[in-house]
Amino acid sequence: MIILLAILVLVVVVLLASTLTVGTRRRLRRKRAGRAELTRPPSPPPPAPPSTEVGPAAPPEARPDAPPSTEVGPAAPPEARPDAFEPTPQEVPPSLLPAEGQPPSFRERLGKARGLFGQYVGSIRSRGGIDQASWDDLEEVLIKADVGVSTTASLLEDLRDQVQTQHMNDPDALVDALKERLIEIVGGSERSLNFEPGIPNVWLFVGVNGVGKTTTIGKVARRQVALGRSVVLAAGDTFRAAAADQLGRWADRVGADLVRGSEGGDPGSVVFDAVQRAASHHADLVLADTAGRLHTKVNLMKELEKIRRVADRPPGKVTEVLLVVDATTGQNGMMQARQFTDAAQVTGVVLTKLDGTARGGIVVAIQRELGVPVKLVGLGEGADDLVEFSPEDFVDAIFS
Ligand code: GDP
Repeated sequence: MIILLAILVLVVVVLLASTLTVGTRRRLRRKRAGRAELTRPPSPPPPAPPSTEVGPAAPPEARPDAPPSTEVGPAAPPEARPDAFEPTPQEVPPSLLPAEGQPPSFRERLGKARGLFGQYVGSIRSRGGIDQASWDDLEEVLIKADVGVSTTASLLEDLRDQVQTQHMNDPDALVDALKERLIEIVGGSERSLNFEPGIPNVWLFVGVNGVGKTTTIGKVARRQVALGRSVVLAAGDTFRAAAADQLGRWADRVGADLVRGSEGGDPGSVVFDAVQRAASHHADLVLADTAGRLHTKVNLMKELEKIRRVADRPPGKVTEVLLVVDATTGQNGMMQARQFTDAAQVTGVVLTKLDGTARGGIVVAIQRELGVPVKLVGLGEGADDLVEFSPEDFVDAIFS
């Protein structure tokens, strides 16, 4: 009996002990689980639908197939994995590209020229009347601005006559008379670009290397495409592969077609092919680049004549020969302009880089000495930085 009682007590003790152990373990597990819940990062939001916008790539997100971290502590920064997802940049067709901006104004871009004129005009105005120093100042600023010696001389002579006959002694009146004379000299020309509907018009771009020919062709192409015309670019400068590549980038950018030949190939045949392409695709316009340098000036001019002959054969017709001149080269640019106008039947001048020079007076020299209208002006490197030349806006900008 005593033995039986002892066994019973033992069984009860063992049962009690095992129940206590299981409870403690459960409590401990629950406690641990609670702590782990607090340290776990919040669950990621549901995946967003794929974006159609082109923008900066988002930082890489945790991959669902990443191995679970066994480390305790702050999460390590995600490492680049060789198989990590890389968003592919989306191609936007050039025709759908947004406008790159509004054309700039003369006032905005002619700060350097205005700085030069402003300084002298200030000193002329500060005097009580018109004296020899006023004339000296005027002469100096016109020469510095690259108006040219002969144009400056004739301008001053006319102004002196006017001052004398009108008994003028007000410096402001002298400045106003100068502005009027400048507008007279550069004004009055037909500046629109010639275009004949129904045939492939060829616009040839001539000028020495580096003046901004290729950039100007790109800008002109952009304007013409925006007008609804279809444009073929002809990479006629076959002496520099880089020139054709550069033109190709413009063609892609503005939505024009490109015809290029082999390096060192015949520029005439490139222009011929471009005209044929334009005719077969009913394109309106061929904008032809030409070489800016050959071994001799004679060769260059002969080459230009040849290109012109080829381009002028039906179905094509040369309706513009645009001489591109860099405004920052001053009187050197004038010399080049004389050579090209003698040889290439230039119909208009595009004056580039007017934004980067105080010597805006070259506009006056070109118009007066060459008798060729400045049709377009480059006011920056951007696709929209090409504007029609306006004598009033130009004079207003340098004197404002
Ligand atoms: P090309 O050798 O005559 O074809 O000359 P490019 O078109 O390659 O131009 C030469 C440089 O002049 C490039 O850096 C152009 O961005 C720059 N350029 C062209 N036009 C202008 C302009 O109107 N203003 C300024 N600031 N730079 C220009």
